[in-house]
Amino acid sequence: MERVGVVGAGTMGRGIAYVAITHGAEVVLYDVAAEALTSARTQIEGWLREAVAKGRLEAAEGQEALRRLRLSGRLEDLAAAEVVIEAAPEDLALKQDLFRRLDQCCVPTALLASNTSSLSITALGAATRRPERVAGMHFFNPAPVMRLVEVVRGLATAEETVRALVDLARRWGKTPVVVKDTPGFIVNRVARPFYLEALRLVGEGVADPPTIDRLVRALGFRMGPFELMDLIGLDVNLAVSESVYRAFFEDPRFRPHPLQRLMVQAGRLGRKAGQGWYRYAEGPGAERG
Ligand code: NAD
Repeated sequence: MERVGVVGAGTMGRGIAYVAITHGAEVVLYDVAAEALTSARTQIEGWLREAVAKGRLEAAEGQEALRRLRLSGRLEDLAAAEVVIEAAPEDLALKQDLFRRLDQCCVPTALLASNTSSLSITALGAATRRPERVAGMHFFNPAPVMRLVEVVRGLATAEETVRALVDLARRWGKTPVVVKDTPGFIVNRVARPFYLEALRLVGEGVADPPTIDRLVRALGFRMGPFELMDLIGLDVNLAVSESVYRAFFEDPRFRPHPLQRLMVQAGRLGRKAGQGWYRYAEGPGAERG
């Protein structure tokens, strides 16, 4: 897997591209928005500089890695990729359209993987003529740091595809776990009540976000639910909540909270927007304000 295509240069796509180039792959990073590509490149350069400063990479290795990254606004530039990892917005129709187009333009042997948090891999595979070569490859945020990768086996995914993606994740220094194609897979299923009960507490006026975050951290979690929502992006978190709720036939256990939608309507999308449940100074990764 020397040639990798990444679709979507947002929070996750740029992180996945960074992991791939720092492990020797040639990457074409595709996005429909030119500014997403520019800002992805700036962020990847920053991560490489940081890795060099911390002694995790030689300066020459950092330069080599950057040379392996190509940005593109044309899906056809992914034609020669051996594996494509899609990290476009969490919207089934949009992803199905992308998978249909990827199937048309990529070499027939290419594996098509989705970084979806919750959507059906089987439904994405069904949009292609190669469902046996379609699987989930679900990285966690921030992708350069988090080790877990859920490799999702759709109903039609071939064992070979699962094996190849498990091996790829291991070569990239990740810890793959093979999971079934079920809404939210394992992590996002378990995580739903983590966010939703916290939102209900705030909605009922029981406690405010900083109090809940502090309490949850005191229990040993690295981040509280509101800090984590800000890191993920409130728009992404809402889309995943809605998708899991719908996929479970509107089981009330998974019902999204109106506060999530209100925050998205206000443009308070979290760190990437400078404000979510907390305010942030300019730039990604800025301190909590
Ligand atoms: P994001 O909003 O940060 O980035 C999405 C990118 O996709 C944007 O740059 C946008 O311009 C681009 N895009 C929009 N339409 C496109 C199209 N038709 N073709 C190509 N690119 C297109 O989103 P994100 O947080 O990176 O999430 C991407 C995927 O990863 C989603 O499926 C999400 O559920 C999943 N995911 C997100 C997180 C997280 O913490 N944010 C974690 C794991 C998985």
